[in-house]
Amino acid sequence: MNLILLGPPGAGKGTQAKLLEERRGLKQLSTGDMLRAAIAEASALGREVEAIMARGDLVPDEIVVGIIGERIQAPDCARGFILDGFPRNVAQAQALDEMLDEHGLGLDAVIELGVDDQILISRIEKRASETVGGPRADDNVEALRKRLSVYTEQTAPVAEYYRDSGKLKTVDGMAPVDEVSRQIDLVLNKAA
Ligand code: AMP
Repeated sequence: MNLILLGPPGAGKGTQAKLLEERRGLKQLSTGDMLRAAIAEASALGREVEAIMARGDLVPDEIVVGIIGERIQAPDCARGFILDGFPRNVAQAQALDEMLDEHGLGLDAVIELGVDDQILISRIEKRASETVGGPRADDNVEALRKRLSVYTEQTAPVAEYYRDSGKLKTVDGMAPVDEVSRQIDLVLNKAA
């Protein structure tokens, strides 16, 4: 089963992706985590994306499309994958369709976690205060505002892109974590 988790920053995509990994044996593919790992290693890629990420902008499409193109074919994705943080704009969604076609893969569902902006801001502030080793470089009010506006302008249209194909399922991301998981399972059991 191959899934996309869509939703604004702080909506709980990472939390739900990890729970889905445990429940269904799928592999979480988080472009944000992969880019942060590149920064931590101070690789050439990390140096290229560090400032872009810190200010809350999107890194170039070819970088993330390249990363995902390699990962979806890896053996650890044989039982399926959960895309977390990708695609972030319609061009990435189109590139994903091409890559899936090329490898004879399909998408079973696109799950959108709906959350309102005020709740997001308080969730991110909480995450920033609780993260061991200090907050992420982009967990501050200025970068968060930027990430929310990027979401509205560039990522929200991705939901419309998938709505047309009937794959988009919206779940209330403001419910408690267990309840969100339960709702996701209901949606996936229907999609299966
Ligand atoms: P995330 O951990 O998904 O919130 O992503 C953190 C940051 O990584 C984003 O604000 C972007 O700068 C970058 N990023 C992650 N995924 C993508 C993507 N699919 N396209 C472009 N930039 C991305």
